[in-house]
Formats: sequence, structure tokens, C-alpha cells
Amino acid sequence: DIAYVNGAFTPLAEARVSVLDRGFLFADGVYEVAAVIDGKLIDNEAHLARLERSLGELRLKSPVPLARIAEIEAELVARNDVKEGMVYLQITRGAAERDFGFPKDAAPTLVAFSQKKNILSSPAAQNGVKIVTVPDLRWARRDIKSVALLAQVLAKQAAVEVGCHEAWMVDADGLVTEGSSSTAFIVTKGGAIVTRPNSQSILPGCTRRAVLALAAREGLTIEERSFSVAEAYDAVEAFLTSASSLVLPVIEIDGRPIGAGVPGENARALRQLYIECAMNDAT
Ligand code: PLP
Repeated sequence: DIAYVNGAFTPLAEARVSVLDRGFLFADGVYEVAAVIDGKLIDNEAHLARLERSLGELRLKSPVPLARIAEIEAELVARNDVKEGMVYLQITRGAAERDFGFPKDAAPTLVAFSQKKNILSSPAAQNGVKIVTVPDLRWARRDIKSVALLAQVLAKQAAVEVGCHEAWMVDADGLVTEGSSSTAFIVTKGGAIVTRPNSQSILPGCTRRAVLALAAREGLTIEERSFSVAEAYDAVEAFLTSASSLVLPVIEIDGRPIGAGVPGENARALRQLYIECAMNDAT
């Protein structure tokens, strides 16, 4: 596989950044992940817009224009012959003598690589996934897609250790924020699709945005509000969204079956719609 590091395409196994890179030392950087289906990047404009916002919030400058980043991503997809999978890209404040304050003249680091992965036909999409809830231990600016992911790593590991696919993180008020790397949704008995509103408490998911637009187009009722773990247990349906998993039905939370304990109708329909629309708009 080929990776991109600071202006050059190199074999992934040989791709290197400095041990002084601030991404490594301080997690002083941001990232994006976009799905690839049929050799095309899905919803990549939204991902690049979010990258630009994350960079701005950390006063980080991209070493190349965003349009060039899109070209680099497309070149990785082509060179690595990715039909289905994802492209990861990361920008950090670069390598400099270790000091907490911003370095005066470090050049930012841009790294990108691709991964092949089955996205359309995954057992998780077919069978649904199990969720465990964990306390949300993250910092107060979760709207920035920073590479500081330790709380998400611990949350996901907690899920793996109890045989679950994903962890839903819960704030101090008992309200679900989001998954370790996905957005959380429930469907109420009245048929409303509920997901937490965007704020500094969650990452504004690109897939969340697209799926909500589709749900609105279908005339479904949407409630952008927080929901508790107790309300989630009681939901008729639950699902999650993310760039690399699209829409996945949730069949169990903390060992309790959700609804009939099988993938729900809304999740199934929204997944199908999302795939059709995303592929139409893919670049
Ligand atoms: N929330 C968190 C914390 C994430 O890390 C992610 C994606 O990785 C998402 C939500 C979903 O965002 P998107 O749909 O843009 O992939």
C-alpha cells in the first residue's frame, strides 16, 4: 500500500514522521475519515468542510489547499486500487522542540493512507450490533475531530471486552452523547427519530447530517434532542451512523433487546437510501 506524507507518496510500511511531531507528543492535530465505495469518495465535501472547521478551531494551517487534499485522497484510492474502504488523513502542528505553546515556525504534517474494508455487505449491517454504555470521559470540545482519542479507545475496548460492537458514551446527566466513533439514534414508540443536537458535546457527524436530510425528505419525524440511557432501553428501534459503517441497526443495549431485538425498519430503509444517494453524489 502507498501512503502520503508531507508532499510525497511512499510505501505505507516506510512512511515516517518525526518523534517530535506534535501529533505524537500532544495529540495536537486533527483527522478525517471518508468512505470509498465503488472506487469513489463518499460525501467528501462534507468531510473536507469539517476538516477545515477543525483546523480553524485549533488555529492549525493545512500545508496544502483543501482542493489539493481531495486530489491526494483520490490518488491514494487509485494507486491502492481501493474499491471499497476508506481514506484516513491527519494534519498536525508539525515537528518542533517539545514545548506546550505553539511553535513559531514548524511546518504542519499531512499524512494520508487508505484501508480496504467491506462497507456495503457487512455482517453488522445484516444482523445488527450490540451496544454497551460507558461514562463519557472526554474533554469539552468534542465537536473538533482531534486525534486525542484516548477516551474513545477505552470506550471501544470496553465494548470489545463484553462482545459488543460499539460503546455509547453517557454524560454526567445520564444522557447519551454519541458512540466512540459513531452517532447514536433511537426511534420512539411514536415513530420519531431522535438524535442529540450538534453542540460542543458531540462530533457533528457527516453521515448524521446526510441521514437526517434523507429522513426529513421521507417525511419522518425528527427530534434533535438528547435522550437518556433509560429512554434508549425503551426505544422501539436504535441505530448508529458513521462514514465507514454507514447506518448500522442496533439490536441490544447493555444486554437488553431493543424493540424485537432484530434490525429495525427505519435503520434498514435509511441505510438503503443513504447508499443510493451517497453513490449518486460520490466523487
Ligand atoms: N462521533 C464520533 C466521536 C466519531 O469519531 C465519528 C466518526 O468517526 C462520528 C461521530 C461519526 O461521524 P461521521 O459520520 O462524519 O463519520
